Amino acid sequence: MFASLSDRLTSTFKTLRGKGRLSPADVDATVRQIRLALLDADVSLPVVRQFTAAIRERALGEEVSKALNPGQQVVKIVHEELVRVLGGESRRLHLAKNPPTVIMLAGLQGAGKTTLAGKLGHWLKEQGHSPVLVAADLQRPNAVTQLQVTGERAGVQVFAPEPGNGVGDPVSVARRGVEHARARGHDVVVVDTAGRLGIDEDLMRQAADIRDAVQPDEVLFVLDAMIGQSAVETAKQFDEGVSLTGVVMTKLDGDARGGAALSVVTVTGSPILFASTGEKLTDFEVFHPDRMAGRILDMGDVLTLIEQAEKAFDAEQTAKLAGKVERGEDFTLSDFLEQMQAVRRMGPLKNMLKMLPGMGDMKEQLEQFDERELDRVEAIVRSMTPAERDDLKILNGSRRARIARGSGTQVSDVNGLVERFTQAQKMMRQMRSGGGMPGMPGMGG
Ligand code: GDP
Repeated sequence: MFASLSDRLTSTFKTLRGKGRLSPADVDATVRQIRLALLDADVSLPVVRQFTAAIRERALGEEVSKALNPGQQVVKIVHEELVRVLGGESRRLHLAKNPPTVIMLAGLQGAGKTTLAGKLGHWLKEQGHSPVLVAADLQRPNAVTQLQVTGERAGVQVFAPEPGNGVGDPVSVARRGVEHARARGHDVVVVDTAGRLGIDEDLMRQAADIRDAVQPDEVLFVLDAMIGQSAVETAKQFDEGVSLTGVVMTKLDGDARGGAALSVVTVTGSPILFASTGEKLTDFEVFHPDRMAGRILDMGDVLTLIEQAEKAFDAEQTAKLAGKVERGEDFTLSDFLEQMQAVRRMGPLKNMLKMLPGMGDMKEQLEQFDERELDRVEAIVRSMTPAERDDLKILNGSRRARIARGSGTQVSDVNGLVERFTQAQKMMRQMRSGGGMPGMPGMGG
């Protein structure tokens, strides 16, 4: 889904990796790349303009978070703008105070309305409702039978016109479908309506007549994601004709470019409620703008990581530490404890590592990583007095024995930690005088 857009955005972000700060020229180049990616994905021009203007303004603006590097910063901004353009919050189905709730489906022929009616019925049933599907698509030969088959598979009742009784009048079928639901105690009615190959006045009048007859709580436009921007134009016309309350995206399993999904909310002002992702009954989900944006960016859980880094980041503490290093003071166990706590506030280390892209191959090593080892280290450091943490040289035998007792470890554990940390301190001092990290891979970005 949206593969090409994902690739383009991801490679744009890659060029920002390792940059200390973004110059206005960097921002320009990034915005240009994003603009091209969106246009190629068939996103409508006004949406592209709004989107890129927002990215530019925010990336250049003062919205600089010290917890993130510039590359992450841009990922975060693009993610948030994607969420916004997809509708922000997910919007739940409006249920009527006095059941039945009436949901009318509208859209072009082949968009996936009948398929969707079955999926929606199936999902509603799972949610504890007692839905009924109404076959008011009398235009397309077979549409009624298709709905009956789908309904049967979903285990949901279908109201269809009996031959000879009002056949040919979809308005009457829709009205009687709702009466049937009320009489039989169904609390949700899904009305499948006819679509045509293109918009025409007849079709729109019929849709408006059905709407007036059944007074729907939701009028959902079923939008074939494969069609792209022109489908969004159709949605706009439907909105003018029957006042849509929401949109359902279908065929998101195909190689749709994303233009329709990213344009429709802005163009119609209607939220996307559901997504259909295949031909099976269960290929259906409630639409979550943030999850969809995450999938478009296709960045593992980098986004979660960014969020957690921001939460755990303590600017004051980091500044204090940087000052210390500059003054040539030693990094002590007290500093170490503070840093370790900041990192652990982000959650289990194992989970954090798993979220980094490319860590999938290291699954086994990660599984063997024992979080309790960190607990032991933390316990040992906590059992020391501040004076001990700042000067390991004062740790004689009796102090070490006390620390081991206090932390529930062995003296050998305490010795091991002290030795490793002393080594590390020595290395850091050497690095400072040598002015670099010989043999260490770059840690930036
Ligand atoms: P309607 O004319 O709007 O009622 O459209 P249909 O429900 O008959 O769907 C038209 C075609 O699209 C059928 O072949 C469906 O199987 C197919 N279809 C519907 N939804 C999806 C979907 O989410 N993914 C895929 N791949 N095919 C779909």
